Amino acid sequence: MKNYSEFVRNIPDFPKKGILFRDITPMLLNHRVFSSVVNEFVKRLKGKKIDKIVAIESRGFIFGGAIANKLGIGLAIVRKPGKLPFETIRETYDLEYGKDSLEIHKDAIRKGDNVVIFDDVLATGGTAKATGRLVKRLGGKVAEYDFLIELLPLKGVKKLRGEKVFSLIKF
Ligand code: AMP
Repeated sequence: MKNYSEFVRNIPDFPKKGILFRDITPMLLNHRVFSSVVNEFVKRLKGKKIDKIVAIESRGFIFGGAIANKLGIGLAIVRKPGKLPFETIRETYDLEYGKDSLEIHKDAIRKGDNVVIFDDVLATGGTAKATGRLVKRLGGKVAEYDFLIELLPLKGVKKLRGEKVFSLIKF
């Protein structure tokens, strides 16, 4: 299956003026497409000795969970501050205006874990980079950063330079 982009809906000026939001909910509604997307990542990661998928709130959870489950490995979740109930560590990163933070449970990654970080969209790369820092602080290694969608003009790969990055759909 190649025409995945047809199942991404473009919403202008959401959540604020000037942002073209890439809405993946049509993809989720179609079992055949959702399943095929998950399988693309499963095929890619099978045999690479990945210990865990680290998925980023919130749409990353949907695909990350399905991929981890199909690979037969665990899922670690990265969330906005104040959402995770156990002991956490935090990383702060720059947004276009201001800053944001992400947290992970301290026991989500074990020393030496080989993980794949997954999110739905790679935009500027700040979110994924901060997630990489969380994983590394806990002693994990990032095998690659995987995304459903990469927004090429925002040059997120530049921020992740030196790291392996894969995206299924490029806009
Ligand atoms: P960034 O840190 O700039 O790479 O932003 C990535 C995060 O913001 C991801 O978790 C995405 O879900 C979300 N995001 C950024 N831009 C968009 C967009 N145009 N459409 C949908 N989600 C986006």
